Order: sequence, then C-alpha cells, then structure tokens
Amino acid sequence: MTLEEDISPFEYDKAYKTILKAESEGLNEAFKNARKVLCVQPHPDDNDLAAGGLVAKLSEQGCKVTYVTMTDGEMGTLNPKMRPEELATIRRTEQKEAAKILGVKNLIWLNYRDSELKSTIEARNKLISVIRKFRPNVILTVDPWLTYEAHPDHIATGFLAAEAAFFATLPHANSDDMKNGLEPHTVGFIAFYWTRKPNIYVDITDHMKIKLKAVASHKSQFPPESFKKLEDTLKAYFRLMGKKIGVKYAEAFKVLSLRHLHCCTYAEDL
Ligand code: ZN
Repeated sequence: MTLEEDISPFEYDKAYKTILKAESEGLNEAFKNARKVLCVQPHPDDNDLAAGGLVAKLSEQGCKVTYVTMTDGEMGTLNPKMRPEELATIRRTEQKEAAKILGVKNLIWLNYRDSELKSTIEARNKLISVIRKFRPNVILTVDPWLTYEAHPDHIATGFLAAEAAFFATLPHANSDDMKNGLEPHTVGFIAFYWTRKPNIYVDITDHMKIKLKAVASHKSQFPPESFKKLEDTLKAYFRLMGKKIGVKYAEAFKVLSLRHLHCCTYAEDL
C-alpha cells in the first residue's frame, strides 16, 4: 500500500499524523547504530554543555566521536585584562581536558574568530571535507532555528553543519575533495541540540556526573566558585527533559534525515 492510499480515507489531522509517523521511521535509531559521530560546535564548551551525556554514552559504547570547533572562543570573558589570544589557548586546553573526560579522542579546530563566524562557502567547504574524511553516521550540532538565539556563531554553525551534511553527498560540491581522494559521503542523520522542537530524548541519568565533570573543565567560562549555580540550572533543565521519557536526566535533540533538510514542510513537526 502506498502512503497516499494509506492516508486517503482519513480526515486531515489523522492523515498528517500518518505521514509524520511514516517519515519519522528510523529517527529513534540514529544514535543506537552510530559508529562515528561528528559534533560541530560554535565554541569550545557547547558540545559538552548540550550533549556531554550523549557523547559520554556513545564513547562508552565504542562509537568514535570527533569534535569540530568552529571558532577560537576568544571573546568568552568579562575580564578586560584577559588577552583574547591567551583566552583562546586556555579554552583549547580546557576543551581537550573535557573531551578526554568524555572519551573523545579526535579534535578539529577551524579557528574562525569568535563572534564573527559567517555562513560562507569557504567555511561550508571546510566542513564538507571534514565530513568526507571522517565519514560520520550522525552529525550533531546546534539548532540554528532556535527562537530568539542571538549569537551569530551559533546560528552560522548550525546552518553550516546542515548545509555541509547536505552537500557532502554531491560529488560536484567542493570538487577539490575528489582530487585529494575524498569521496562523497552521505550522513545518515543530523541531530540538533539546544532545540525547541526535540523529537528524540536520550537517557543520560548514568552519565550526568561525567557530563558535569567535563563542563567543569571549562574553568575560564564557569569559575569553580560559581559552578554550583550552573550545575543546578543544568540539572533542572535535563531533569525536565527526563520527564518526557520517564527517566531522571535526559538530553533532547531534533533528529532529521538529509531528505528532511530541503523542501520538507513537515520537518518541524517530525
Ligand atoms: Zn557557544
């Protein structure tokens, strides 16, 4: 039976639900079967804050996780005496430490200037090459459609990662890759964190402690003397997400297939 035949007897709401159900098939398996996951973050700390529990869980299961950090993070201070270049070095060290805690061995730095990342073809092509080299099953990144998100690096990163996933599959996109022996690659899923439209919740109850330890490594961002406040905020938020699936703590993601990233009017509702 075709999907059209399936929905024909139903009124609109039931027909729409039937289409959503058909299109959502397999999305909840995105992380279960992943062998390689590429996590594209705007700044050194975003992956750990939003998805550190999932990252720890994946690493534990033998999944190879790679972090791509788009910017150098040199704006991340309220201290006028801190030199931006010095902060970039500190944050890189902190990110390495956090990644080690979560079992992430591979870190890629694209070093765009913090606060100035733009959705350019050059940046997109760099990500396409990374995708073709690393060949992930899943790309994890920030949701660029988050309502009221004001940070340009977050918006640009989410769009760049989605665009790169979309074009990495097409041989004529960033065609220099072919000359360098990098074949096109089709990513199975893209998962967005910090999202208002989550469709997949991951139980991180057993990984909350290690996630918080990784987050605490970013001492330049979250000084030890005020970490308790952040810890409470994070615990409350991930506890709230946990309620969706009846566990103590969960991280929430909007997971889509590549076909949902173009001309898909119901992607928002999947
Ligand atoms: Zn950030």
